[in-house]
Amino acid sequence: MNNSNKVAIVTGASRGIGAAIAQRLAAQGVIVIVNYAGRSADAEAVVNRIRASGGQAVAFRADVAKPAEVAALFDQAITLFGGVDILVNNAGIMPPNLPRLADTDDDQFDRLVAVNFKGTFNTLRAAAKKLRDGGRIINFSSSVRKLALPGYSVYAATKAAVETLTLIFARELRGRNITVNAVAPGPTATELFLNGKTDVQVQTLAKMPPLERLATPQDIAAVVAFLAGPDGGWINGQTLYANGGIA
Ligand code: NDP
Repeated sequence: MNNSNKVAIVTGASRGIGAAIAQRLAAQGVIVIVNYAGRSADAEAVVNRIRASGGQAVAFRADVAKPAEVAALFDQAITLFGGVDILVNNAGIMPPNLPRLADTDDDQFDRLVAVNFKGTFNTLRAAAKKLRDGGRIINFSSSVRKLALPGYSVYAATKAAVETLTLIFARELRGRNITVNAVAPGPTATELFLNGKTDVQVQTLAKMPPLERLATPQDIAAVVAFLAGPDGGWINGQTLYANGGIA
């Protein structure tokens, strides 16, 4: 699979799944903008790992919830590398110990919507103007959208919204040869998943899929690389559930 000379923005790439995606795409010759929200040392470490393996990457801080920062993210990519071909909307939050709907406060609701839903909207809106024709967009849903576990109502609802944006935006980009898809991981061994869970909770969730383990960030990065590369070119408007069979 050859993606050489393409330019990708990977949001939330300082750690977890996004860091694995950045490294995977860079290994295929893609120039990667490693976006992050606050952890600059982690983002620089990802960039350094990519460069040490012969790839090209730069880190760029931008809160995807803020339209002006998203505009700056695209402008920086275009200034440095001439354009953007691939957008991976991986940035997302899931605070630990999510309460049930009745106990969810306004701040938590607003923050989940701002980052997971509005953040994806912000980057898609920028991509409509700034992604080169022939490009690829990969959004992030979650398998909990189908699992519908108590406690996940607002988080899962933001991901359902992302799935809805995915198909409609794919249709709105008719004529530009840009595909828009989403990946919906199941439990994946990252801070977002592990934070606030006991070992027993982690093991219980890990045993739920018939493949009986947690995903690694690399499992999910492989799916994104497929959708971003030539072999995924006929898939459009879809949400791909990558979860070992959990849902
Ligand atoms: P992590 O918490 O490990 O990493 C989150 C990343 O997103 C970090 O790079 C963080 O940056 C960045 N980020 C957070 N908020 C913002 C923001 N406002 N603007 C820009 N970047 C931001 O998460 P995962 O790797 O686990 O999750 C990646 C995606 O996968 C998310 O969309 C999540 O919902 C989804 N997902 C994850 C699952 C799992 O089990 N892990 C399961 C299903 C879906 P910084 O380091 O600077 O804070």
